[in-house]
Amino acid sequence: HDEEAAAKAAAINADNGAPTIFDKIISKEIPSTIVYEDDKVLAFKDINPEAPVHVLVIPKFRDGLTQLGKAEQRHGEILGQLLYAARIVAEKEGILEGFRVVINNGPSACQSVYHLHLHVLGGRQMHWPPG
Ligand code: IMP
Repeated sequence: HDEEAAAKAAAINADNGAPTIFDKIISKEIPSTIVYEDDKVLAFKDINPEAPVHVLVIPKFRDGLTQLGKAEQRHGEILGQLLYAARIVAEKEGILEGFRVVINNGPSACQSVYHLHLHVLGGRQMHWPPG
């Protein structure tokens, strides 16, 4: 797909440690629809939803986690908190019965924002395998 090729091209040099749009969402410089927030984690609605429920769950402090592939042992606690927050989001959004959690890692997976994020998707029948 053209869209995929463009995303891949844009992502090739994207993991450069520069601030991302998610920093401005965390600081509330850019508005978002917040679904869940605590001192470590923020969950907000994706601006371009791929399902009736599409929420992004991110760490408030990126701490080197531009992508999951950069995770180190010391990130274990925040990784667990993100996954648990995904479950809280699923409950709040009424999709606990069936939902999907996705992490796109790197250009081949079409990652476009280099601040680790979990996609929580649901509200419709999800298909397998994903594209
Ligand atoms: P990725 O492709 O896995 O990196 O996902 C990045 C996601 O961020 C995409 O689903 C975008 O729609 C979403 N996104 C980008 N900018 C914004 C924004 O300003 N608000 C909410 N979601 C955004």
